[in-house]
Amino acid sequence: MSPRMRRALLSSCAASVVATALIALPHLSGAPERTAPTAEAAVRLRLVFPVKGHAVNSANYGACRSGCRRRHLGVDIMGHKGQPLLAAGAGRITALRLRRSGNYLTITTPSGWSFNYLHINNDLPGTDNGRNLRRYAFAPGITRGAWVDAGQVIAYMGDSGNAEQTAPHLHFEIRRGYGWTGKPVNPSWSLQTARRVR
Ligand SMILES: [Zn+2]
Repeated sequence: MSPRMRRALLSSCAASVVATALIALPHLSGAPERTAPTAEAAVRLRLVFPVKGHAVNSANYGACRSGCRRRHLGVDIMGHKGQPLLAAGAGRITALRLRRSGNYLTITTPSGWSFNYLHINNDLPGTDNGRNLRRYAFAPGITRGAWVDAGQVIAYMGDSGNAEQTAPHLHFEIRRGYGWTGKPVNPSWSLQTARRVR
C-alpha cells in the first residue's frame, strides 16, 4: 500500500459510519458515533473470520478521527477487491444498502450482537468504475430479512463510500444491540481466535 493510500485509509471509515447512520436512522442524529471507546471488558465472541482467504486485521479500533473528536469504531481488514466476505456469526440481515454513498450490511444475531460490514464492493471486476451492480456487491440471496449461517458468503470486499481513495478493505464492527445504535466493542479480541476460512 502506498503512503498516500495509507493516509487516506487512516482518515476514512469513521466519517462513513456517521453518514450511514444519519441516512439509515435519521431519528438518532448520529449520536452513537460520538461514543468514545472506554475502558471496557474485553469481549471475545466465537466467530468466523469475516473475510475468506488471506486478509490482515489492521487492529485500528479506537483510532482518532476528525482530530480525535470521533473514534474509529471498527477495524479495517485489508484484502483485495472482490474477496468474499463471510458471515461472522449466524443471524439475520437487518440492514443492507446498495448506494453510491457506500454499500453496507448488518447481521444481527439472536443473542443481540450486530456485525456491521462497510465499503462493500461497488466496481465491476478489474475496474474502479463505481458502476455498483448488486451482483458484485452482495452474494445471491442476501437481502434484508434473510437468515445467514456462520461462514456463509454474504458480500464482496471493495472500497465504496469514503474508502474510494484507499486500498480495498472491510470496515468491520461488532456492536452490542441493533446495527449502528448498539454499543461498539473492539472486534480484535474476537478476531484473534476467529475460525479462518481459506
Ligand atoms: Zn474503518
